Formats: sequence, structure tokens, C-alpha cells
Amino acid sequence: MSLSQLARSISESPTLKLNETAALLRDKGEPVIHLGGGEPKSKAPIDAIVSCASLLSTGDVKYTPADGIPALKKAIIRYTEEHYGRQPAAENVIASSGAKQSIMVLLHAILDPKEEVIFPVPYWVSYPEMVKLAGGVPVPVMARSGGFEPTVEEIAENIGTYTKAIVINSPNNPSGAVYSDEFIAGVVALCEKNNLYLIMDDTYNRLIFDNRKPTNVYQFSPARGLDDSKLVVINCVSKMYAMTGFRIGWTVASKEIVRAMTNIQSQETSGPAAPSQWAAVGALNGVQSSIESLRLTLENNRNVMLKRLGGFSGVNVVKPGGTFYCFPDFSAYEKDSQKLCHLLLDKVRVVTVPGREFGMEGHLRMSFCGTIKEITEGIERIKWVLDPAAPNELYLGDRKLTRDWR
Ligand code: PMP
Repeated sequence: MSLSQLARSISESPTLKLNETAALLRDKGEPVIHLGGGEPKSKAPIDAIVSCASLLSTGDVKYTPADGIPALKKAIIRYTEEHYGRQPAAENVIASSGAKQSIMVLLHAILDPKEEVIFPVPYWVSYPEMVKLAGGVPVPVMARSGGFEPTVEEIAENIGTYTKAIVINSPNNPSGAVYSDEFIAGVVALCEKNNLYLIMDDTYNRLIFDNRKPTNVYQFSPARGLDDSKLVVINCVSKMYAMTGFRIGWTVASKEIVRAMTNIQSQETSGPAAPSQWAAVGALNGVQSSIESLRLTLENNRNVMLKRLGGFSGVNVVKPGGTFYCFPDFSAYEKDSQKLCHLLLDKVRVVTVPGREFGMEGHLRMSFCGTIKEITEGIERIKWVLDPAAPNELYLGDRKLTRDWR
């Protein structure tokens, strides 16, 4: 079989693959603890379900405009006014099948072959592959400090003649880091000075802890109207409303960009699935209390995970300021994160994601979107594998494990 060069250059999404592995093991009755997940456990808001069901009950489920139904665009405009203080026109908004498609279509709309896209390390696993899919070259920037936030100067050092865009994701998947206002303001200024696109991936914007307010990137670019700015903001219902399976994301950008994206999307997939769009309308226009209750649950889970990890000498962990991910450094135990991830899955059936996938070796991404029991028991099992002082035996349900690898 002959596959394209492009197909051969793209790797499978490691997080989706881990989900599959975990599901297969669970089906076999294995007591898996999934600390690798990327979605809240809670249910979709009732307003989303009612709105979706009322379309389904008509049986009249048809194509929609390529950039989304007017009711969804209206809801997105209202959301943007409320949370960003900007009033986009309908032509500044395009809905897509998840933030993933929003970013992918956007990259297709702006990148010429070999143009570069910069993003900080650690980064969301899909950025490098998506940039490659769009014919571009990913340029990850590691902070010299070894931390999760490079300096604006470090970003600037990587700008060259081929640079087209910078992607910023805050709060960040996988570190949970909320970038400082100084950093965001600096990157906005850098993009304006160098005429670059700034893609603000706000997927986790509302899931933020410790009384901090979600960052509004527009506040750092007050003079610019949407149509004379290269600032692009991506959002979705996936995480804040626990609606990952509905696959609705959106982009707010200049009319020129949205027009180009709409053309591409119209040829690629057409508009997102109509029932999902109506579900998103319900979520955005409905009672908003589920976001705060999810946020509070996640903040509590974060505290529990941090406390448990604190009992691990040698594990270096930075407190996540948002999301539902923690990115501890396990290199004191094992420098190869893939090896460590496989060891934990193999020995104690705990799923984590190797830091290597996010551009940072020695770390593991551990999610706290599950239950407190999963978090505490998962970390206890990991400790049993790694801590030489742990007793030789551990019970997984009624199965007794004996440590035979030290
Ligand atoms: N951006 C980031 C940083 C993400 O973590 C995710 C989902 N894991 C997405 C975008 C894509 O979101 P969606 O499920 O809406 O496609």
C-alpha cells in the first residue's frame, strides 16, 4: 500500500489511543484507574439536552450553513460580549466540529507551505501534528528556566522570516499553568509588532482556580477592532460544559479570516452536526451554574491530587492554576516518561500520559477530572510501584500483587 508522505509524517493522538487502551482493559475486567483522561465526568447541562432533543423530535435534521446556525452564532456573540467585552458581528464568528476543527481550519486558512507556528512547551499534543497537516512547521519554545512559561524574549528569539503565528493555550494543557498577564500582553505586542497571527486557545478559559479571573486577551489589544487585528480566539463547549462528545467549537476573528475558514470548512465537512449545534445553543443560553460547580469540583480535586503528590519525595509538582491536569516531574524515579507510563499501566493499571508527548520529558500528565477515589487510589498505586520503601504487596480489588521488579 502506498501512503502519502503527509500520512506517514503524522502520528496517532496519544491521548485518544490511551483512552482506547484503558477501555479495552476495562472491558476485560481489569481494575483500571484512568488518570489520563481529558474530559470532565459530569453530565451535559439539561438546557443543552432539551434544546438538542427538541430538534431531534421534529425529525427534521438537515444541513446547516457551513459557518453554523444563526442561533448558535448569536449565542456565541452574546458569550463574547459577556466574557470578553467585544461585540463581534455574525461575520466574525464561525462554529466548527470542536475546537480541534476550529484550529485545523484556521491553520489551513493562514499557513503557506513551510511557514512556522510557534508555541510554548509543554504544549497540547495536537499542535505539532495539526501544523504539519496544514503544511507548516511547528516551532516549540522551551523556557530556559525549565518552567512552564517561557519569557517573551524567548518567544521573540524564535521569530524568523517564515513565522506566521503564535499559539497560546492558557490555562494550559498539560501543565495547568495560567500564564501571567505580563506574558500574554508581551506576546500580543510581539504579534502586533511582527504582523503575526496570535491564536488564543481558550478551551479551558473558565476552568480557573484560586480566585483568579479568566484572562481576556482583548484587554491587551484595546485599540484594535476585530477586523484590523490578527488576534484569533478559539473556544468550545467541550470542557466547560462537559460536552466533549457534541463536538462544538468556535472561532472569533476578522471577517477576512472567518470568510476563508468558512470556504474551507464548507468543502471539508459542511456545518457541524445540527443536533450538536442546538445543544450548544442550549448550553450557552441556559442556566450557567454547571460551570461554577464543575470549577469548584475541579479545584477541590486539584487540591487533593497536590496533597497526595506532596507525599512523594522526589516528585516535583507545580500547582496547576486551572484545567484538570497536573504535570509532575517524575525524573528522579525515571527519566523516560514513556517507559514510566507503560510501567504504571502494566503493573498497577493506572493510565497517565507521557510528558514526551507534550514536549517535556521526565513528566507525566495526570488528570484530576475523575473522582476523588480515583485520584487517591491512583496515586497510591503509583507510589507503590515507585517508592522503594513501599511494602512488597498491594491489593488491586481482591487480586494480590507482589513487587517483583526491584
Ligand atoms: N485545545 C486544547 C488545549 C485541548 O486540550 C483540546 C481538547 N483536549 C482542544 C483544543 C480540542 O477541543 P475539542 O474537544 O472541542 O475539539
